[in-house]
Amino acid sequence: MATQKLQSVRGMNDLLPAEAERWERLEAGIIRRLKSYGYRPVRAPIVESTRLFTRAIGEMTDIVEKEMYSFTDQLNGEELTLRPEGTAGCARAVIEHDLARQSAQRLYYMGAMFRHERPQKGRYRQFHQIGAETFGFPGPDIDAELMLLTARLWRDFGLNLTLQINTLGRPEERARHRADLIRYLEARQSALDEDAKRRLHDNPLRILDSKNPAMEEVCAGAPRLFDYLGSASREHFAGLEAMLTAAGVPYTVNPRLVRGLDYYNLTVFEWVTDQLGAQGTVCAGGRYDGLVEQLGGKPTPACGFALGLERMIALLPPDRCALPDGLLDAYVAHCGENDGAKTLPLAITVAEMLRERGLKVILHCGSGSFKAQMKRADASGALYAVIIGDNEAAKNAAIIKPLRHEAAQTEVALDQLGDTLCHALEQIARLTRALEDTL
Ligand code: ATP
Ligand code: MG
Repeated sequence: MATQKLQSVRGMNDLLPAEAERWERLEAGIIRRLKSYGYRPVRAPIVESTRLFTRAIGEMTDIVEKEMYSFTDQLNGEELTLRPEGTAGCARAVIEHDLARQSAQRLYYMGAMFRHERPQKGRYRQFHQIGAETFGFPGPDIDAELMLLTARLWRDFGLNLTLQINTLGRPEERARHRADLIRYLEARQSALDEDAKRRLHDNPLRILDSKNPAMEEVCAGAPRLFDYLGSASREHFAGLEAMLTAAGVPYTVNPRLVRGLDYYNLTVFEWVTDQLGAQGTVCAGGRYDGLVEQLGGKPTPACGFALGLERMIALLPPDRCALPDGLLDAYVAHCGENDGAKTLPLAITVAEMLRERGLKVILHCGSGSFKAQMKRADASGALYAVIIGDNEAAKNAAIIKPLRHEAAQTEVALDQLGDTLCHALEQIARLTRALEDTL
């Protein structure tokens, strides 16, 4: 019987070493930046009660209606779901541990999210987000901070994204707008697509977020939520605009930006690109002041964002994450008589000695001619090869061979090897920094 080939699940991808290393560098860079703004990590479980998401995200949203991986625990009958986003779990954790009781919180999380969507470039069934959430800050200053932080992140990585912002006002204001919007749309039933007809009475605001070009005209003429906002909502938004302007962050107000999740109020924002087609939103967020209370906690203002790592990676030039700290310092090659009876133990000792000095070192393992080993050394990306043959072993020495620049190889006594290599690497690092400064 032929065995069926095992493959990863559709829309869920493996990241092989070269790619996974780019991811690690990207994640490390983002986290460093989040920490520099005072954000601290939380790690919530990947599986939560289905109830959490239906309550937090809303029954009539794309996610809850058709994208969740939900299942019944075979052992105790609990209804569970693989998290489709990180905000609900984060809010649940904050409530469960009364985290915002003493002081307002700046938090971040990262990890895999799961949505049953049609896989395409920039859209997967397992994808990864890094998100920031704040709890206990009511003013637009924190909304602005989240936008400044993300703006700086794009600068860190040389990305060119545009900021769109909007305000959804308070629930009462939305309710009045909603009634008028439904009346307006009811009068134009024939111009609505299937999705819009279905949403008309449950979630009409989402209709304005439609990606269907045929809906463009109806949406453009619809009553605008902004006209229904009271003075407090308007002031919050004006405050945000003033701060963005003062900080020199360009933005556009997009009145049609409503976001796909129910929990938002007041500020919403997206960072978008035109390079990823329909998957153009790299980062999205906003304020969700009602969520904590809705999930059973004390009323707590909150605001956050999530950025999609797949989309960010797709925008980065292939070598952009290759920071110098990703480079390997040395590849230790060894070749000697009698299956390396003398050279192999020496090579192991040398590799360990260099690691002790803090260097990143690969020791050649397995057999291989000297030529084959040098090929490996070259492919590893290491700056230097450290070579030990029988000649060197007899003299207690090694050869240092530069792999990335034109220079002669030199023989160095083993007790000098660490110092010599460290000195050479420092010089390279200094030159690299100087070069970067002039660019
Ligand atoms: P979209 O409109 O593209 O479906 P969304 O509004 O559903 O996005 P959010 O729930 O706000 O997205 O998630 C925040 C970010 O997470 C998105 O801007 C995007 O970068 C990323 N993201 C969301 N869904 C996916 C997915 N299926 N695959 C890859 N990245 C995703
Ligand atoms: Mg979506």
